[in-house]
Amino acid sequence: MSELNLILLGPPGSGKGTQGERLQTDFRLPYYATGDILRAAVRDGTKLGREAKEYMDRGDLVPDEVIIAMISDRIESPEAADGFILDGFPRTSAQAEALDAEMDQLGKRLTAAILIEVSDEEVVRRLSGRRTCAKEGSHIFHVEFDPPSKEGVCDVCGGKLTVRDDDKPEVVRYRLGQYHDKTEPLIAYYEDKGILRRVDGQLTPDEVADRIRALLATLQMEEQL
Ligand SMILES: [Zn+2]
Repeated sequence: MSELNLILLGPPGSGKGTQGERLQTDFRLPYYATGDILRAAVRDGTKLGREAKEYMDRGDLVPDEVIIAMISDRIESPEAADGFILDGFPRTSAQAEALDAEMDQLGKRLTAAILIEVSDEEVVRRLSGRRTCAKEGSHIFHVEFDPPSKEGVCDVCGGKLTVRDDDKPEVVRYRLGQYHDKTEPLIAYYEDKGILRRVDGQLTPDEVADRIRALLATLQMEEQL
């Protein structure tokens, strides 16, 4: 079987993380959410983690080379022999080029960049409707999709439900602006390479997962021809 080396792209609230986890289960591929990789390296005090921490302690961004090196470690490990799912990297076309160069060196290539498309209005609707429990942040409700039985009160523990700063409509719109600025060049980059695949993220999570599975089955068939 050919390798499935995948990148997931999509705005905040697109359900990218959920789909990444499903892909991990369905295709038995390691799922690399780069934020998690970075935090784990810092926590475990690896050489790269210590290097990253120096930048973070100074309040600087961790440079691309350090992140790329962390990702390469994973990509060339035996667990990624059949492929991997990368989420959160690359974020810019410069990072995409660096990743391509690294993949070349490893004798690998990307199979597809999967873009989960969700309209801005839908993202605002999804995120700004979230209500988070003030006592326990993992208790999350949604005014439309998953309302608590009593308005403003957590069903699990009785805590007060609040809107996280990140979920305030004006903040969501700002994050969307950032996403568009950074990601659109990246979308064009993968489109030029002929590996961009778009998936309608407005469907239910099950439907989105089905579309992605169908897409990957087609890609694997094409590779075997
Ligand atoms: Zn609660």
